[in-house]
Amino acid sequence: MARVRVLGSGREVGRAAILVEGSGGSLLMDYGVNFDERDNPIFPEYVRPRDLSGVVLTHSHLDHVGASPLLYISVKPRLYATPLTLDVTRVLLHDMIKIGGANLPFDEGVVDDMLSSATTIGYNEEVDLGGLRFKLLYSGHIPGSASVLVEVDGRAVLYTSDVNVIETKLMGPAMLDGLSVDLVIVESTYGSTNHPPRQFVEDRFYESLREVVESGGVALVPVFSVSRGQEVLCILAERDPPWQVWVDGMVRDVAEFYLKHSGYIRLYGLLAKAMREYNLVRGWQDRRIAYREPGVIVASSGMLKGGPSLYYLKRIAENPKNAVFLVSFQGRGTPGRQILETGLALAEEIPVRARVEWFDLSSHIDQNGVIRLLKSMKADRVALVHGTPRAQEALAKRIREELGLQVEIPAVGDTIEL
Ligand SMILES: [Zn+2]
Repeated sequence: MARVRVLGSGREVGRAAILVEGSGGSLLMDYGVNFDERDNPIFPEYVRPRDLSGVVLTHSHLDHVGASPLLYISVKPRLYATPLTLDVTRVLLHDMIKIGGANLPFDEGVVDDMLSSATTIGYNEEVDLGGLRFKLLYSGHIPGSASVLVEVDGRAVLYTSDVNVIETKLMGPAMLDGLSVDLVIVESTYGSTNHPPRQFVEDRFYESLREVVESGGVALVPVFSVSRGQEVLCILAERDPPWQVWVDGMVRDVAEFYLKHSGYIRLYGLLAKAMREYNLVRGWQDRRIAYREPGVIVASSGMLKGGPSLYYLKRIAENPKNAVFLVSFQGRGTPGRQILETGLALAEEIPVRARVEWFDLSSHIDQNGVIRLLKSMKADRVALVHGTPRAQEALAKRIREELGLQVEIPAVGDTIEL
C-alpha cells in the first residue's frame, strides 16, 4: 500500500518536504528550510537518508531545497532535478552558508558533493527507481521548476509543489491538465485570495516608477534573487524606459544562470536585453553612485533583511521624492513588512518618508487558479500543503462545495494512506 508522509509544509508556508512510500521504494520530494525570527533554521521532520530510493528537488527556493544537504552528510541517496534548478541551488546554498553557516550542520563541501552527484532530468522524462517511477512536469512557478508525478504500488500521486497557472515574462502556465491521479498534493500559499490581473499590476507598477523617476526620485525595488528579480527586469525591458536602471546583488548572478539556460525562459530576449543594457553594480564604487541620480534600483534581498537593498534603503528612505516598491511576499517580522505596516524602517526606527507601495507580482497559484487546476484533471483526493491554516480552510471549503472532492489538510508528521 502506498502512503504519503508530510515531513514539512503541513499547515505552514515553506519548509517543503513530502515523502511518497510504497513497497516499491520511497521518493522524497523537496527538503526545505524555514527560518525563525532570530534566523535559526527550522528543518523538516527527520528521514533516514539510507531508506530513500531517491530525492527530487522541485525548484531552487530555499524553502524547498535548504535542508537537502542534511541528507548527504554520510550516505548519498540519488538526487534528481532540472539542470537549472541544480545550478541556482548551488548559488543559494552557498549564500545561505555564508550568511548563517555557524547555525548549520553542513558546509559548502557537503553541498558541492551533493550537487555533483546529482542526475539532471528534463520535463516528462520518466525515471524508474525499481518499483517506483516518477517524472517532472512543467509547473510555471520559476525557471527550472517542476511538479512531480509519482507512481508506486498502482497508485499515482501528483505533488504540484509551488505552481502557477498564469503567464509571466519568465514562465508559461503550468502544464498539468488531463492527468488522472489518486491524490493531488497542492500548494495553498494564496488559498484564500485572488491576485489582481497581472497586466493591471504591471502597468500600475511601471506608472508608479515613472512618476517617481520623472519627479527626480530614486525608486528602490527590493527583489528576491531567484526569479522575482529577473521578472521585474523583464517587465522594465519590455517597456524600454529612458531612465537609469541599476541591478545589484545575487539577482544579477542568478540572471546570468538564466541566460545560460535559455530554454527555460519564456521571453528570453527581454532578460538578455535587460542584462545587456542596465547598469550591473560590480562593487562599492558603483553602489555609491547608483542612488545619487534619479532612476530605478533593482536589488536583493526582497524583504530588506540584508543585501544591497538594505544598504540603499538606509540612504533613500528619508527623502519623500524617493520610493520603495515591494514586489515580493513580506514575511512576518521582516523589515519589509515593518515598513508596510508602520512606516518605520529597521531597529533604529528610521521614519520612511519615501513613498512605499506593494505590488502583487506573485508566482503562486491563487484560489481561483486552484479550482481551475483541479477541474482540469481527475483527482480522487486533494491534500493542501504550503499554506496557513486560515487560507487552507477557505480553499478546502470552496473545493468541497464546488468540486465535491475529498480534501485533507495534513499537519507536519501526518500520513495519508492510499
Ligand atoms: Zn517557490
